[in-house]
Amino acid sequence: MYCKSCGSQIDDQAVVCPYCGVATGANQPAQTHSNETNTLAIVGFVLSFFTALIGLIISAIALHKAKTEYNGNGKGFAIAGIVIGAVEMGAIFLYVIIIVAGLAALGAAATTNAFLL
Ligand SMILES: [Zn+2]
Repeated sequence: MYCKSCGSQIDDQAVVCPYCGVATGANQPAQTHSNETNTLAIVGFVLSFFTALIGLIISAIALHKAKTEYNGNGKGFAIAGIVIGAVEMGAIFLYVIIIVAGLAALGAAATTNAFLL
């Protein structure tokens, strides 16, 4: 192929033109970060302690990225974030049910008392 910048004939596999040093844009490897820290996994993990739903969503995205882009990096954090987020969601759900059930019981009791008075 020919360099887009200087027009020199260069190797088809060349990522950078050996004559002018400009990136050829050819044969670029797929965007991967296999040696980088999966920051999103850590962010999701930390957030799962504060906001279950957002932490859960970010951890799920991070887990997908860990598998597709990061060569498994951050997978543990992402799974931990999902588990913590899910457990918290379950706890919040239970808490709401208990509150609602409690209010219903109080309401029933109040109604009964009103009748008795
Ligand atoms: Zn060139």
